[in-house]
Amino acid sequence: MSQDLEHVKCLIIGSGPAGYTAAVYASRADLKPVLYTGMLAGGQLTQTTEVENYPGYPEGIMGPEMMENFRKQAERLGADIRYGYVSSVDFSTMPHKVVIDEVKTILADTVIISTGASAKWLGLDSEQKYSGFGVSACAVCDGFFFRGQDVAIVGAGDTAAEEATYLAKMCRKVTMIVRRDEFRASKAMMHRVLHTPNIEILYNTETKEIVGDGQSVTGVIVVNNITNQETTLDVTGFFVAIGHKPNTDIFKGWIHMDETGYILTKPDSTQTNIEGVFCCGDAQDHIYRQAVTAAGSGCMAAIEAERYLAAKEHIVTA
Ligand code: NDP
Repeated sequence: MSQDLEHVKCLIIGSGPAGYTAAVYASRADLKPVLYTGMLAGGQLTQTTEVENYPGYPEGIMGPEMMENFRKQAERLGADIRYGYVSSVDFSTMPHKVVIDEVKTILADTVIISTGASAKWLGLDSEQKYSGFGVSACAVCDGFFFRGQDVAIVGAGDTAAEEATYLAKMCRKVTMIVRRDEFRASKAMMHRVLHTPNIEILYNTETKEIVGDGQSVTGVIVVNNITNQETTLDVTGFFVAIGHKPNTDIFKGWIHMDETGYILTKPDSTQTNIEGVFCCGDAQDHIYRQAVTAAGSGCMAAIEAERYLAAKEHIVTA
């Protein structure tokens, strides 16, 4: 077999909690998994600061360090972890063909997709500058650090509504920045927002700049898009909740997805519409999006891959 063609039992694409957990379980099931990390090795958690809600770390842990631990554990158990990204796939044949970095082809008996999702950002330089230092795209992950403080959140969908009510429980005041004169969120979510006394809604308002002292956020400049009036909100936290984008573009045309690109799996399973291809983590979950739920579904995917291969072997040898 040429150097650029390799046959593996289990190929894992992506290196967040889902991918690494799948690698741990697949290694222990002797599937000799090969995992490609993708562009952002370690996934979204490498861009956060402290993680306090992952079980097993009583004192909390920094996101990058936690992902380093995930990687080491998978490697210690035998997973072959490689830097590289998947440039294309061909799921029309068995084994499945997956091209890495446009040059190398892997033939895989099973494929576990754990490519995650990326939070959408406004695209402001100041947003990047203070990311992890007052700017966050996850209230459930980071809200706790702002207890008793004033924060702002941008967005008007279900995520923004849910996160605003979550933040309102621990923060003194939450200001919602809504770019139109209405919400996109469902009526039930809206009802909760409108009946939470410490949430203030600024309609027809857009974020101009996040301001800080060089270390952390001290405020947000917003502008009313009808009157053009600028206001500075004195907040220490700025949450972005304008949606997520699953990293699933390369699977389009092969794998069934919903209209926003989240991969569809069979109920109570990580099985996709393609035999031998499983999906776990944020690439298929737009509801929970937590490290621990991603890890749980990574475990499911590896167990399902193992059972799939065992059943196939049984048919061949029977
Ligand atoms: P959505 O795409 O539904 O909403 C995104 C929101 O962000 C919209 O209000 C949009 O404004 C706003 N927005 C987008 N870009 C900008 C920008 N540049 N500046 C300011 N505002 C911006 O994303 P969600 O993450 O809220 O929801 C995704 C899916 O997940 C939905 O189907 C939702 O129902 C579901 N969900 C369900 C939950 C539940 O059932 N518990 C909880 C969370 C999400 P505009 O309206 O003007 O376009």
